[in-house]
Amino acid sequence: MSGPGASPPTIAACFRAAREQLVGAGIAEPDTDLRLLMAQVLNTAPGQIILHLRDPIGAENIAAFEALVARRAAREPLSHILGKREFFGRMFEISPAVLDSRPETETLIALALQEPFERLLDLGTGSGCIALTLLAERPRAKACAVDLSEQALDVARRNAAPLGVADRVDFARSDWWQAVDGRFDLIVSNPPYISAEDYEGLAPELAFEPKIALTPGGDGLDAYRQIAAGLSAHLTVGGRVLVEFGAGQGDAVAGIFRAKGLTQITLHKDLDARDRVLSARAPAA
Ligand code: GLN
Repeated sequence: MSGPGASPPTIAACFRAAREQLVGAGIAEPDTDLRLLMAQVLNTAPGQIILHLRDPIGAENIAAFEALVARRAAREPLSHILGKREFFGRMFEISPAVLDSRPETETLIALALQEPFERLLDLGTGSGCIALTLLAERPRAKACAVDLSEQALDVARRNAAPLGVADRVDFARSDWWQAVDGRFDLIVSNPPYISAEDYEGLAPELAFEPKIALTPGGDGLDAYRQIAAGLSAHLTVGGRVLVEFGAGQGDAVAGIFRAKGLTQITLHKDLDARDRVLSARAPAA
């Protein structure tokens, strides 16, 4: 409480209270979250907050900040509270209709960029973060991006415009290959891969994300079976496929792709040194 004459609360004081609240809610390292939430309230860049820790903060901004912190304490993902998330250096709108793009997926982007490509297909595009990032990085490439969810496609469409790539991407509603036409020299996917069993024990944040984006049910490998089944009809000769998978699924996913005749099957590690992305190639004719 700040009575008359007492100095008004500072941003640092707000942080102290909020930090305690979030740690109490099971978020072990809340500092980045707090900085981003405060930046949203003050409408400033997150990097600036540190310079203003001793500044006083007005009652309205305190209330707004506390409201956001309360949502985070209920384990709503930060990206949903902010409505956006940075991926490979660009901002993407995120909503409860799409998977919150994750840093692991940047591993797939880096691998995709190691070789040239002209025609890209993204299966299960969600927010569009993979297809749109690759288009932004490769100004001559074109992409087709499909998803089963019309609401996800709406988010992806909104993400295309600010990146200046809207004229090079076709979005289509499709159950995997169902509406896909033609051949591509690069096919990418970060499909739902969590098994029914693992889905039960997930972090509380995942309850806010669409189940359809996280798990195909069963053993978690169904999406790979579906994807692998259509590759020979949709990859160009020698074309590449890159798929993300869950930690521990590498051998099973490799087996599924090998059985469909893919060659040069390789597993790649994410920044935590766990196998997370499979690359493979359509055989030469
Ligand atoms: N391609 C999107 C992403 O990587 C969506 C993936 C998904 O919904 N499973 O974030």
